[in-house]
Amino acid sequence: MDSETDKLKIVFLPYVTGGHMIPMVDEARVFAQHGVDVTIILTKANAALFQKSIDRDFSAGHRIRIHVIQFPSAQVGLPEGIENLNTITSIDMAGPLTQGMVFLREPIEQLLRDVPSDCIVADMFFPWTLDVANDLGIPRLAFRGTSYFSLCAEHCVRIHEPHKYSSESGFVSLPGFPHKIEMLTLQLPEWSRMTNRFTGMMDVMREAEENSYGVLMNSFHELEDAYEEYFKTTMGLKAWSIGPVSLWVNRDVSDKSGRYNITGGDGHHEVINWLNSKGKNSVLYVSFGGIAKLPATQLKEIAHGLEASGHPFIWVIRKKQNDEYQQVFTEGIEERMSESKRGFIIKGWAPQVLILDHPSTGGLVTHCGWNSILEGLNAGLPMIAWPLFAEQFYNEKLLTDVLRIGVAVGVKEWSNWGQEGTTAVVKREEVEKAVRLVMGGGKEATELRKKVSELQDAAKKALEIGGSSHANLMALINELRSWKIQKSSTVTK
Ligand code: UDP
Repeated sequence: MDSETDKLKIVFLPYVTGGHMIPMVDEARVFAQHGVDVTIILTKANAALFQKSIDRDFSAGHRIRIHVIQFPSAQVGLPEGIENLNTITSIDMAGPLTQGMVFLREPIEQLLRDVPSDCIVADMFFPWTLDVANDLGIPRLAFRGTSYFSLCAEHCVRIHEPHKYSSESGFVSLPGFPHKIEMLTLQLPEWSRMTNRFTGMMDVMREAEENSYGVLMNSFHELEDAYEEYFKTTMGLKAWSIGPVSLWVNRDVSDKSGRYNITGGDGHHEVINWLNSKGKNSVLYVSFGGIAKLPATQLKEIAHGLEASGHPFIWVIRKKQNDEYQQVFTEGIEERMSESKRGFIIKGWAPQVLILDHPSTGGLVTHCGWNSILEGLNAGLPMIAWPLFAEQFYNEKLLTDVLRIGVAVGVKEWSNWGQEGTTAVVKREEVEKAVRLVMGGGKEATELRKKVSELQDAAKKALEIGGSSHANLMALINELRSWKIQKSSTVTK
């Protein structure tokens, strides 16, 4: 390893939700595995969720550490230990959590100035880190935990405002896009369709990104080349595709099962034993990510749809504060599924990557969160797209219309986070139909499986020496190293 690369130091600052922390910590670990000295800034309870993996990497000789900061729980009125969106027990806790992160700005800023570093990688929710990086005279790389496709679509809608030429119940198309994409107007995020409290916030984040050194993307060239190109040329941003980062670092069972284990302990063996008793590719995994909570009305339809499909399933369910599980399972579905051993219900947090990578898992119902999509793709699984909020409806289009590795269950309307599943309930018949299509052996299912398995291979190759993501990572490290050498020679002149 050459000594200058050795000295390259990068600080990572993730945001307090699994969908952002998990890929950024994976990313930090990838850099450390390639000779970079890495510091990750996390609050105490969040640090605990990653400590084992980081300790293992450290013992393997990588220079990686977590710098722990104290979350101001008492100041914002949150119970000790509630420091991320995955452990809040009610949506009302999201405000105080965000407030806590606002209070932490000053100590984090001080830390960024004190910890010696050559580059800051910061989540989109910390646009102010650009000023700190500029003050320190070091590059800021923006972290975006989503697809190129969704960022390009967001840009396209902002510039062309296609919704202004369509009725609320009509369709919009994305002008100038590499593929013909049509969506319902109501599937566009509300902050794009109208000016609301998030529009300004999104603008600030975007501007910070545009003025940063570049954007780190958890994607790979072979997956979204046309949109990588659009991002770099039409949108004019500098970007490095270095994904899928999860595949890079979560190679063995301990990595997969210990990853962000918010329930603690090891209750994993039960679901794995259950999967061991099933046939190859026979089980459907159903999950809506780490922060979505569907109402009992929707959960009930899912339960009936899954039962009627006749296919075995694992279903991760997280109830809303006032919904009792009895409301969902009023008709004894849970007992029937358990007796027939056809359904395994996880009430809480699942060891997702471990489940997806199991040979018995054969398909995935996903809310189209980018991490879940990539994890499904890494495991070669065809998907049923069930988008809810954020940029998930764009990701659905990528799955169904561009990559053709998924089918839509048919959600017609975007929701704000916290209201997901309340506007238009997806009926049990639609659930059953989509499950039968993807898990059955028909022509369409075979085609989906073939396409996703090609992408699975491409993802693996992208990370190998000579692969696209590997080459991008090395190019970036070399660029930052040259930048550093140049800077230190200018200073010493
Ligand atoms: N996840 C998990 N177990 C769960 C739910 C989620 O391990 O029960 C992980 C999942 O593997 C993924 C992340 O949490 O890495 C969720 O990110 P995603 O972008 O899919 O969705 P979000 O939670 O941000 O909506």
